Amino acid sequence: MSLRNIIILFSLVVAFCFVYLKRHEFVRNDLSTPPTEREVYYQVGTIDPRFNLTEGEARVLLHEAARIWEKPLGRQMFFYNPKAAFKVNFIYDQRQQSNIARQHAERELTDGQGSNQAASANFQQQKSALDAEYRSHEAELVVLKARASEHQQRVALINSRGGAKPSEAQLLQAEGDQINRDVAAFNQNSSFLDAKQTNLKNQASTIQSQVDHYNQQAHNYNQNYTGHPFEAGLYKGSEINIYEFDNKDNLRLILAHEFGHALGLKHSNDPQALMYPTLGKQDLVNFKLTQADIDLFYGRVAAH
Ligand SMILES: [Zn+2]
Repeated sequence: MSLRNIIILFSLVVAFCFVYLKRHEFVRNDLSTPPTEREVYYQVGTIDPRFNLTEGEARVLLHEAARIWEKPLGRQMFFYNPKAAFKVNFIYDQRQQSNIARQHAERELTDGQGSNQAASANFQQQKSALDAEYRSHEAELVVLKARASEHQQRVALINSRGGAKPSEAQLLQAEGDQINRDVAAFNQNSSFLDAKQTNLKNQASTIQSQVDHYNQQAHNYNQNYTGHPFEAGLYKGSEINIYEFDNKDNLRLILAHEFGHALGLKHSNDPQALMYPTLGKQDLVNFKLTQADIDLFYGRVAAH
């Protein structure tokens, strides 16, 4: 191989390397700049399909998360760039699995509460209807007793006068028979109402055991899932990894929180701040940066 050929080959290799490097040249974020001057170039990395999130949806949410910072602070700080070295990845592991279990438990609790409330409302309705029936039943008893004693007094009076005439005796007999029939009907109604009462008592204990079950579930839920750390996401300098989220509103805020770290911010101790370490007290849907977040951005507060 002549020297000339070697030179050509060498320059081809150089050119190839140049093209190769050029094509794989990434836009890197300068982490030495303070938050107020920092520009973050990002792209979407991998999204595990089990999240059911498309790249387009992720980009929209990232844009919205960026706007949470940019709008109040009046400067574009986050730039989507397909050549950005900094990537936002969605990594599915046991965290999202347990998150789904938590959401399932939450739905069960909500459903349980709903059906308990419906059952108690229905029970209360039946109970007041039965109370009303008992009241009119007791009023009937008063009337019945009065009729019986009136009848007995009449019989006693007639006997004291030496007995009834046949026509009178027949009437008295008929009246007595009617009272007896009414007493029998009254007694039958008593057993009917008592059966209803027993049925209601059974319902009450069923409802009580449902309520106990609900309380147990709520207790378990609180033990298993209290506090939802923002470490659903993790900022690592070269990437943001998202491990779990409930829904888009929740994810938007997780992304905005991690973007805050990408700006170089630490955590805030204001529970309503975006940069608070856990997600819970923030307004998910219409979140606005808190003064604590803004102070953190301008370096006006001691971060912790
Ligand atoms: Zn954090």
